[in-house]
Amino acid sequence: MTVDHPADLVLLGGSVATMDAARRFTSALAVRSGRIVAVGPDAEVRAHIGPSTRVIELRGRTVTPGFQDAHVHPVHGGMAKLRCELHEDRLSGVPYDLVAAYVASHPDEAWIRGGGWYMAAFEGGTPRREDLDRIVPDRPAFLTNRDGHGAWVNSKALELAGITADTPDPADGRIERDPDGTPSGTLHEGAMALVARLMPDDTPAELEEALRLGQRYLHELGITAWQDAIVEPHMEERAYVALASSGELTGRVVGAMWWEHDRGAEQIEEFVERRRATTIGRYAPTSVKLMMDGVLENYTGAMLEPYEDGHGRQTDNRGLLQIDPDGLASWVPALDALGFQPHFHAIGDRAVRASLDAVAAARRANGPSDTRPHIAHIQVIHPDDITRFRELGVAANAQPLWAAHEAQMDVLTIPFLGERWRWQYPFRALRAAGAVVAMGSDWSVSSANPLWEMHIAVERKNPTWLGGATEVFLPDERLDLIDALAGFTAASAYVNHLDQDTGTLEVGKLADLAVLDRDLFDRGTGEIGDVGVVGTFIEGEAVFEGSDLGG
Ligand SMILES: [Zn+2]
Repeated sequence: MTVDHPADLVLLGGSVATMDAARRFTSALAVRSGRIVAVGPDAEVRAHIGPSTRVIELRGRTVTPGFQDAHVHPVHGGMAKLRCELHEDRLSGVPYDLVAAYVASHPDEAWIRGGGWYMAAFEGGTPRREDLDRIVPDRPAFLTNRDGHGAWVNSKALELAGITADTPDPADGRIERDPDGTPSGTLHEGAMALVARLMPDDTPAELEEALRLGQRYLHELGITAWQDAIVEPHMEERAYVALASSGELTGRVVGAMWWEHDRGAEQIEEFVERRRATTIGRYAPTSVKLMMDGVLENYTGAMLEPYEDGHGRQTDNRGLLQIDPDGLASWVPALDALGFQPHFHAIGDRAVRASLDAVAAARRANGPSDTRPHIAHIQVIHPDDITRFRELGVAANAQPLWAAHEAQMDVLTIPFLGERWRWQYPFRALRAAGAVVAMGSDWSVSSANPLWEMHIAVERKNPTWLGGATEVFLPDERLDLIDALAGFTAASAYVNHLDQDTGTLEVGKLADLAVLDRDLFDRGTGEIGDVGVVGTFIEGEAVFEGSDLGG
């Protein structure tokens, strides 16, 4: 038996993880005109093969819906690839060699810019200017750390910015100093701007090239859609508008427009106008990013109770809410009423609670809505707040890579939380309470590899190649692999409002899919974090193809 209209593409003999409501697995799939026309056993799908159909023999390998990253910064990540890139330093060591290589190969760059260094590689998390001076004595150097909340600078950069022992700390940041007040080479938070404002702006051409690189990298990792977690008008938005207009934007992108902390409700009408003017092709800025607090490692995450001092004693520091909660109680309902999705960054339990309270205010004002608010990072959640995610219809947006014992956690975080360290990244508790758990990488803060992230979501420890087996981090919070996979497919598609057309492999949906290099669910084939991607398709068109895909 054959069908009247043969497929363009048929995949046979695999393990197709449909991620449909029943979480059905089957072996084959057929695509015509960008949409899935059959999903089922080989015998049934073979009927769709015609003379010009491309047929890929999967030989037992897994096909999943294209991965969707619910919180990522591809323009920033791509820009890092254009500059001094330290993120790929998997061994978490001091990156002197990488910096030296970049300096040597870029003799004409006026500034040495880049980043991705790992705080735990340096004593106290704060690298020193002398160490950078030895590699870059004659040009200013500015290298941000992996989470972007601090920068390592050399003496030349401090000199150009006029930062000396007499320079006061800015209100929103801190200059790391020696005991005599001399700047030692690390700038925290707002203090980074003292140097960054001197650097040349990213040009439109650089921003576009950064997005091209970022997009290519995400496609190589099986990612077909994402939510860009910070979109600003002169930065990311420029790149998306350019590539969406020229047809180069192959990924489906939801933009989260940045809420400026020093402004109020007046920016909401600008969001409405930007949404109208820049929704083009596969790009739609329908989300608004509300950065509620900082991070725990430098005590800027907002906590309900104070941080400890590392020796079991309480301090008087509860961190800082960066957005006024009283303002939020009117702004979030207003955004929700206009159809914008609130996308919160919340690390500390006070920031998580303030985010949930803001959505509660929206529900009271507007009733139920379909804006699908989500809270990214959710590092510390007070146990009383776990059930509120389902009750309020707030999705948890997890970055599973961070839920493991490693130096940043064990040295820079746990000693300052005390017993609350057990409230961290409670992914299984959220699932058990009925919350939608979507996932994202926060690349370039951490790796964008969804298989590595799923590995840690399931194992709560690093893959063997990242330093061997360590103690499991809060073993009760380990997720099942199927839920971790849902986090990067169906659940992130839901958060991205792309679930009508993507996120599962079902007849009628768009053929956005990833082909893995083995059977993901056969755990006899090695660690989840070692699984690779051999092909990525969007509407049936290959956007990445490894040499061993076949067909
Ligand atoms: Zn982020």
